[in-house]
Amino acid sequence: GIVVENVSKQFGSFQAVDQVSLEVKTGSLVALLGPSGSGKSTLLRLIAGLETPDSGKILLTGRDATYQSVQDRNIGFVFQHYALFKHLTVRKNIAFSLEIRKTPKSKITNRVEELLDLVQLRGLGDRYPSQLSGGQRQRVALARALAVEPQVLLLDEPFGALDAKVRKDLRAWLRRLHDEVHVTTVFVTHDQEEAMEVSDEIVVMNKGRVEQMGSPAEIYDHPASAFVMSFIGPVN
Ligand code: ATP
Ligand code: MG
Repeated sequence: GIVVENVSKQFGSFQAVDQVSLEVKTGSLVALLGPSGSGKSTLLRLIAGLETPDSGKILLTGRDATYQSVQDRNIGFVFQHYALFKHLTVRKNIAFSLEIRKTPKSKITNRVEELLDLVQLRGLGDRYPSQLSGGQRQRVALARALAVEPQVLLLDEPFGALDAKVRKDLRAWLRRLHDEVHVTTVFVTHDQEEAMEVSDEIVVMNKGRVEQMGSPAEIYDHPASAFVMSFIGPVN
């Protein structure tokens, strides 16, 4: 799993992440939920190793990863506008990180077909990104992130740029995928409905701090603060 211990990150004099502690259990799917500017992406980038904390500790599968390089963390990412390689087919996009790791060819072929099945894109392997819908592209990005069997999967508003209907479909799809793959996943969103539907646990963030962490039901039924209540509570 992932353990974040008292992690802080400042940009200039601005405290983007303020003494955050949380735990993501192995194999679970946790949503980071909060308004724009609450520090969700910064926290995700700290877990990934794309930023270094000013203080605090990050443990990945029990090992101190605070100062470990991105490459050594064995993490898969998908961002909102995750650029696929435009000049490469879907198959080649998914195979990319396996090829740079010098994985044997036959193994790559098998793994890519397996991943195409997993993200339900069998038959589209020879297309180029420009020949796919936005939702299909994000599924390719997910397959690419999963190719190297990461210990942790980090998703930063992966469906943020898609229309409401596609978002809803992909949300349900991600839940099913996670039930199949069980990779420890942190999913950033500012959409409370998305967080409620997809995740095992929700971390509600506000101004760089964790307001509350708990199951969707716990947070919905027992919001710990007025902020949580207003952000996640019954919509009237
Ligand atoms: P959004 O929902 O809009 O993506 P967020 O919760 O992901 O917001 P962050 O991107 O983590 O928020 O940003 C938190 C705060 O830190 C913001 O005020 C942002 O402007 C600031 N910030 C983030 N990265 C940097 C940076 N590299 N330099 C300066 N300020 C930054
Ligand atoms: Mg963000």
